[in-house]
Amino acid sequence: MNKTYVDPPSGWRYGFPKFFINHPKDFNKWLVDNGYPQSEIDLWPKGVPCGMYIVSDEEEQNFNSGLRKCGLCGCWDWPVNHHDDCSICSKAQYGDE
Ligand SMILES: [Zn+2]
Repeated sequence: MNKTYVDPPSGWRYGFPKFFINHPKDFNKWLVDNGYPQSEIDLWPKGVPCGMYIVSDEEEQNFNSGLRKCGLCGCWDWPVNHHDDCSICSKAQYGDE
């Protein structure tokens, strides 16, 4: 069963990423229920800009070990930028710096 991992800003401080299986009706309430402080949510009146990662059972292990799915080619790699692109894709997109 696919799970959706949610990673809000500074989430690591509060034990994120955490996952849901069914999208919560009240997303901010879900964040608070999972330990994210209301004071952080209040910083984002238009909605907290979370990283969202849908992973299958097999992929969950990758995710928990810190790998991220590349948004361009779909492979699992250590994220090299905020888009979570793999090293190959980010090189192709942004050049070799
Ligand atoms: Zn890639």
